[in-house]
Amino acid sequence: MAVKRHPTKYLGEEYQRLVRENLNWELKILETASEPICIVNGKKVLMLCANNYLNLATHPKVVKAMIEATQKYGAGAGSDRSISGNMTLHEELDSRLAKFKNAPASLTFQTGFMANEGVIPQLAGKGDLFVSDELNHGSIIDGVRLSHADRAIFKHKDVEDLARVMDEAEKHDPPYNHIWILTDGVFSMDGDTAPLREIAKIAKEHGAGVYVDDAHGEGVLGEGGRGIVNHYKLTREEVHVEMGTFSKAFGVIGGHITGGEDLRNFAYNKARSWLLSGAVPPGVAAACIAAIDVLETEPQHVRKVWENRAHLLEGLQDAGFDTGNTETPIIPVMCGRSKAAKDLADYLWSKEIFVLPIFYPMVARDKARIRVQVCTKHTTEQLNRAIEAFKEGGKKLGII
Ligand SMILES: *Cc1c(COP(=O)(O)O)cnc(C)c1O
Repeated sequence: MAVKRHPTKYLGEEYQRLVRENLNWELKILETASEPICIVNGKKVLMLCANNYLNLATHPKVVKAMIEATQKYGAGAGSDRSISGNMTLHEELDSRLAKFKNAPASLTFQTGFMANEGVIPQLAGKGDLFVSDELNHGSIIDGVRLSHADRAIFKHKDVEDLARVMDEAEKHDPPYNHIWILTDGVFSMDGDTAPLREIAKIAKEHGAGVYVDDAHGEGVLGEGGRGIVNHYKLTREEVHVEMGTFSKAFGVIGGHITGGEDLRNFAYNKARSWLLSGAVPPGVAAACIAAIDVLETEPQHVRKVWENRAHLLEGLQDAGFDTGNTETPIIPVMCGRSKAAKDLADYLWSKEIFVLPIFYPMVARDKARIRVQVCTKHTTEQLNRAIEAFKEGGKKLGII
């Protein structure tokens, strides 16, 4: 006789467990465009947790490009790029991005997640090794899990530990054929950056590849927002895959890998998420091209996000908050226990400020925090209002 089982009962049980343990997501509803002041769950709030660092999501040129391309080419591409959906606009986006990055080639994907999940498992297999920073993004972790390669972890940003792991790897018998070091460029929970120059140096000593996921660095770091490879003045011989996204500072959606021609040719023949999934709509490709255009012709947006970031950071630090090791417009406001982070986020919400509390299991149990993200269009008055509310809430809750 078959075992008595129920097909779906555990779904509800698991959800109830998440609710009981306070680990469930309560989805908020954004009722307007993502702007500094927007309406969320019916309430007018100051947005401090969007990835839209340069406000390109609502930039007139980007919006116009999307509308015009949609009118001309339709709402969808009609197929995967590998079959009949590879439009002129997709090819143009690939080459415009490569030019912006000063690299031989780029290949754009539907999302950044799909770029990692598609490319990483093809780079290494049996007899190879992935070496990964312990705080890497989930899409890198999933990409590694899809591969048959061995895995090793190094401590967050710790180049000595990386060197140790690499020396250890050299003892492997038989020797590894290929080794890849994988790291986020900007770590999304802390806003700190990878020590990419040192990583590239260690990689070179071992003939290893370097793969950097610059999702939060693009549009922000480097000259005119050209990203972390440009920021650290590294070459394509030192960093072999620069991966990124159009869903953050670029304000649209999409992902990419950038590097040599060989990388592009390899990736579009091998990455299953690219080969077996629909192309982004032409309007999306056109909007991404327009976003690159804006970065190339309007450098004030990148300048301004850094000014705003400096102002807010100084205000929070003067108030006595611990802001970790941030180097970017992502500012973690350390609260300690989960409850403190949640209470502070609730307090800020009551003051019409929308921030994201981050706690276990996303970060260690005693490292709960509020993650604040600054954008170009925040005004000084808005940032001052946020600083005041943080101060009041922080004092009330005994965080400062
Ligand atoms: C957001 C993010 C991604 C995923 O990018 P999408 O284009 O939104 O899918 C990948 N890696 C890192 C580090 C990210 O922060």
